[in-house]
Amino acid sequence: MNILVTGGAGYIGSHFVKILLKNNFDVVVLDNLSRGHKKAIPADVPFEEVDLLNYTELEKVFTKHKFDAVVHFAAFAYVGESVENPIKYYENNVVGSFNLLRTCIEANIKKFVFSSTCSLYGNPDKIPISEDQPTNPINPYAQTKLTIENILHDFDSAYNLKSVALRYFNAAGADFEAEIGESHDPEPHLIPIVINTALGKREKVFIFGDDYNTKDGTCIRDYIHINDLGDAHLKALKYLRDGGDSQIINLGTGEGNSVKEIIDVSEKITGLKIKSEITGRRDGDPAVLIADNKKAHKVLGWKPEHNLNDIISSAYNWHKNPRF
Ligand code: UDP
Repeated sequence: MNILVTGGAGYIGSHFVKILLKNNFDVVVLDNLSRGHKKAIPADVPFEEVDLLNYTELEKVFTKHKFDAVVHFAAFAYVGESVENPIKYYENNVVGSFNLLRTCIEANIKKFVFSSTCSLYGNPDKIPISEDQPTNPINPYAQTKLTIENILHDFDSAYNLKSVALRYFNAAGADFEAEIGESHDPEPHLIPIVINTALGKREKVFIFGDDYNTKDGTCIRDYIHINDLGDAHLKALKYLRDGGDSQIINLGTGEGNSVKEIIDVSEKITGLKIKSEITGRRDGDPAVLIADNKKAHKVLGWKPEHNLNDIISSAYNWHKNPRF
């Protein structure tokens, strides 16, 4: 199969490209490099530096290559930024995805894997969160992802486009060979912040609130290794290739860890002291997000293989000597 990976130079996309190549798929990466890194893509992988907002250039890519399926990661994904600048988010994420989907329909592509998010559940009523719980996005970023899921639903009804929307919990960790890893600027995510504090690249970790109704007062998240995420995308592609119907599926481990636990485990794994300070809550942070991942197992035959130790140790190996 020849697969178009949008956002393939980004954190999640580049790890998935590596998995596709290991499994002998043909890959074309499309990325505008606004947030991604060219170095994250092997030099011999066909690369199209195209912005999804540029419909004419996008059409040319689909004329130049013939794709069997599209895996769509390209998006902006900072909650805070989306609150400050919703125009940027609706334009890039919704209009960009719409252009891509329209091009897919014109090119008669019927298989589409979409990078969605657990943040569209908002503040969930029940933990763990299953896919049938109501969606309630509380920021523009989550709204854009839900809008695209809705477009996918309509495009299946009208054009028979089959899709799997994967709602990620907290993607974390890095390639075990440390060739690629997480590199955002600025970095909003907890685990890279904790590791870079251990490495002396930051002074301390600010813990956003210790007055939540959790075991130690800090927020609990379901951290999932980036390669487990990648593996689920591979299984989603195979599922669609084998004639599967459209699905919405959570991707998480079903386990939760608090901010303090992340710091403690990181101190143990690195053997380094990590300074932290309690500060106020961050706006829009739910206390607990943990996935019910039964559907991923049932529909895709997927189970996470890596635990928190793998996540922290692979992130540590990458951040010791990042290539980009
Ligand atoms: N967090 C924190 N300090 C930081 C960054 C994050 O305490 O410097 C907390 C944040 O409040 C959340 C958890 O760590 O409870 C994970 O945050 P992250 O931004 O990594 O992912 P999110 O859950 O927002 O997608």
